[in-house]
Amino acid sequence: MRTTLVWLRNDLRLHDHLPLKCALEKSDQLLLVYCLPDSWFESTEYGFPKINNIRLEFLLQSLVDLRKHAQERGGELIFRRGNSPEIIAELAERHRVDTVFAHREHAPDEKREEDNLRERLKVPLRLCDGNSLLKETELPFSLVDLPKVFSNFRKQVEKEVQISRPLSVPKILPPHPNGCPPGIIPSLEDLGFEPFIRDIRSVYRFAGGETAALSRVQHYLWKSHAIKTYKETRNGMLKADDSAKLSPWLALGCLSPKHVYQEVRRYENDVVANDSTYWLIFELWWREYFRWITRLHGENLFRSGGIRNQSPKVEHWEKWLEAWCQGETGVPFVDAHMRKLNATGYMSNRGRQNVASFLVRDLRQDWRLGAAYFESRLIDYDVHSNWGNWNYVAGVGNDPREDRYFNLVTQTLRYDPNGEFIIRWVPELRDVPPKEIPHIVQFTRQQREKYRLGAYPEPIVFSSAWRR
Ligand SMILES: Cc1cc2nc3c(=O)[nH]c(=O)nc-3n(C[C@H](O)[C@H](O)[C@H](O)COP(=O)(O)OP(=O)(O)OC[C@H]3O[C@@H](n4cnc5c(N)ncnc54)[C@H](O)[C@@H]3O)c2cc1C
Repeated sequence: MRTTLVWLRNDLRLHDHLPLKCALEKSDQLLLVYCLPDSWFESTEYGFPKINNIRLEFLLQSLVDLRKHAQERGGELIFRRGNSPEIIAELAERHRVDTVFAHREHAPDEKREEDNLRERLKVPLRLCDGNSLLKETELPFSLVDLPKVFSNFRKQVEKEVQISRPLSVPKILPPHPNGCPPGIIPSLEDLGFEPFIRDIRSVYRFAGGETAALSRVQHYLWKSHAIKTYKETRNGMLKADDSAKLSPWLALGCLSPKHVYQEVRRYENDVVANDSTYWLIFELWWREYFRWITRLHGENLFRSGGIRNQSPKVEHWEKWLEAWCQGETGVPFVDAHMRKLNATGYMSNRGRQNVASFLVRDLRQDWRLGAAYFESRLIDYDVHSNWGNWNYVAGVGNDPREDRYFNLVTQTLRYDPNGEFIIRWVPELRDVPPKEIPHIVQFTRQQREKYRLGAYPEPIVFSSAWRR
């Protein structure tokens, strides 16, 4: 009787799962294990909770969905809480597992976990690349020669690499060993978290799990055909299909990037190939790039000086940080996005760039505080994309356009000229004529009184770049 164990991490799916495929070649019994780390219930070094109720609910939904899929195929998802390496090693020993399989991760904490597990295990740990479009061995350069600039990376991979097809879902799964209780997947309340009450203002309801992930791809490409206009709409903030909204599932691995890639190519073949279809793949390359950046630069990605080892000048004003987190800065475009993040766990890319630029460039705060806040709140939190993008916005990443300042007034005029998005999330501004909303940061006392802005703060800073 051969028993294998698959240690699930950010790969909560059955499709395109290389560790699972490898395990199935060798098993009569399978332990498919997810371990919810206790460390997630602590605060990070920046003082924010590692995970909040919205993020956690999405994860729990994804586990429930995966268990259902596993059971439908004769298998089981084993759920445990605690220290992952300790638990996996203990299960492997107790059930006489031959080999442990898992996806390889790139960030330092995750790599330490792998080392820790390897030390405890008495059997081999086989790690596979698989949450990316490419394996490390498929890169057209060695990792140390990873291009310093994204466009060079993209041009080279686009020219020289063929993306392999995603693996299909196994039809059946072997049973789990007798005497291994599956474990109850807890609810938010069981874990001591407040229930998450959905905000009716959110334009899209994310549901965790592979089922919802695949159906979102289906919808965005084949039902709504929204992909046809992605390039024009992707900066929009008011409609569910403005952008693909795939990131939460990609982050937890409910969705394989290769599946998305393959579906876009199929769409291009069967329906239309245009700038928009290309641009979705272009964005997937950004995701890919940040994964290899993380693997290459490790701890430096998380240091104040970033991957370029800069020495950014920062100030520390607790009140400003607090105002930024709560969406109470008096700068409507920032506040609307931050309030949306707090209420829904999601923010558009345009929003992220603006609020991050405001924190770093206008408030001159340590960019890592912003990244850590995003980590606790984003349902699509992905260590590589989050810390990588913050490096860029903070000017400590490999960005040829070093001066990435986002002028909040011109950005509002361009992306929310009638204040529709802002009013939705900052209702205190409802008496202001729509055309005036982008200019609130420059209002005189008389204008503030006229439009009854008593309940809304004056801007905590004023940048000369915002003048009319
Ligand atoms: C400061 C900051 C922090 C960010 N943190 C995260 C994060 O934690 N997790 C995360 O997935 N994305 C992050 N992003 C990238 C981007 O904002 C989100 O991927 C995107 O908004 C998700 O929405 P979508 O799926 O509708 O994106 P779409 O525009 O539809 O793009 C499709 C997919 O491409 C990828 N993608 C798009 N833009 C980027 C980008 N700039 N970097 C990397 N991948 C990208 C994502 O996987 C996304 O799902 C961050 C960006 C910034 C500026």
